[in-house]
Amino acid sequence: MPSWDSAFADDLWTDSCGKDRWRGNLEGLEEHISHLSDKQLWQFRTQSRNELVRYVRKRFERQVSISGESGLIETAKQIFNPDTLTLGFARRFVPYKRPDLLLHDPQRLIRILTHHENPVQLVIAGKASPYDESGKTLIRRWVQFIRQNNLYNHIVFLSDYDIQLTENLVQGVDVWLNTPRRPWEASGTSGMKVLVNGGINLSELDGWWAEAYTPEVGWAIGDGQEHGNDPAWDAKEAQQLYDLLEQHVIPEFYARNPAGIPETWVSRMRKSMSLLTPRFSANRTVREYTEAYYLPAAARYIKRAVEKGTAGKRIVSVCNNLKNQWQNIRFRAMKIESVENKFLIHAQIWLGEINPGHISMELYADGINGEPAVRQEMQRDPKDTTDGEYVYEVQVAANRPAGDYTIRIVPRYEGISVPLENNLILWQR
Ligand SMILES: *Cc1c(COP(=O)(O)O)cnc(C)c1O
Repeated sequence: MPSWDSAFADDLWTDSCGKDRWRGNLEGLEEHISHLSDKQLWQFRTQSRNELVRYVRKRFERQVSISGESGLIETAKQIFNPDTLTLGFARRFVPYKRPDLLLHDPQRLIRILTHHENPVQLVIAGKASPYDESGKTLIRRWVQFIRQNNLYNHIVFLSDYDIQLTENLVQGVDVWLNTPRRPWEASGTSGMKVLVNGGINLSELDGWWAEAYTPEVGWAIGDGQEHGNDPAWDAKEAQQLYDLLEQHVIPEFYARNPAGIPETWVSRMRKSMSLLTPRFSANRTVREYTEAYYLPAAARYIKRAVEKGTAGKRIVSVCNNLKNQWQNIRFRAMKIESVENKFLIHAQIWLGEINPGHISMELYADGINGEPAVRQEMQRDPKDTTDGEYVYEVQVAANRPAGDYTIRIVPRYEGISVPLENNLILWQR
């Protein structure tokens, strides 16, 4: 957060949460920031947008003079309006980000931007890899669209997208747009960068936004499902995006109370700042990694290392033994009985020289409707054992077709982290 906040944001957060707000466990931030008045928040937003407009003019002027479009220098000095709703849209120009989604219906986009009472301005920044022709084509589409429709006052394309440009954008925009194609967005960090500055996200339900979104903190497109690269679905999401802008985002921004403040907007901004900023800060991430992974890993390391690494050596030896024997495992027979509302599942497995204490047998079914996968440990029947051959059993509720289930064998012994240190997992074919 301290890397992305503006000077205005730093003042605001310092006033309400103190200078050391990003240290420690972040408790109380939500409470403090939620007490800021509408007026303070709106003033902050207005200053931030003003600053961005100043920056955009300067940067665009430099850009056109370097590229020899000197006819645009006078235009560049005056583009944009500090009071107009400002959307930011910056990304690597790769197809999965769908940087042309907004261009799906160009006439509708032009109507939205140039509305005479409630106009919109759009800052676009991006870079394509020098070897990526499709990325470069996408950039050219935007640049031509702006030129052909003389939209300089409503869209600016800023080249040489880098961290410094990002910093200025995320500090000033009212709304940050992100339109990746699900499920390709690993995270979408740029959206997190606007939080501390009071920007609001409008994004595909993918990456971080699939976790963070609730209606009170921003806007979402998509239905949270995957649709491949079906052009009909892209078209549908483009419509959704235009509808959201026309029916919610723009009216909310321009609906002012007698004091000139858009109350609903400010309350959404407050929620986004107070609820999301602490949760999506690097502080929370590092703390969580430390608690959930680094400290337990350090404790496990110490356990392995004592007495000249006795425990560590044992783990390596079990691991090597499993590796050598793994290809001898055979699924011999599987029987599924229906008993009342349950399936009773027996499996006969040949483990050969593998110690059954070093593995676990799991009944597995893929999750449906976004639910986690079903994983149920099977029990070894101690009676039914002959040399190297074992019988495992488990019961599950018969609420899914028996054919959904399969069996897999997973290494399991004390001290090992699976699949990180041992990824031998054998599936029944
Ligand atoms: C933050 C940032 C990115 C990454 O953005 P994502 O939304 O995570 O794809 C890429 N380039 C620059 C210059 C950035 O500042």
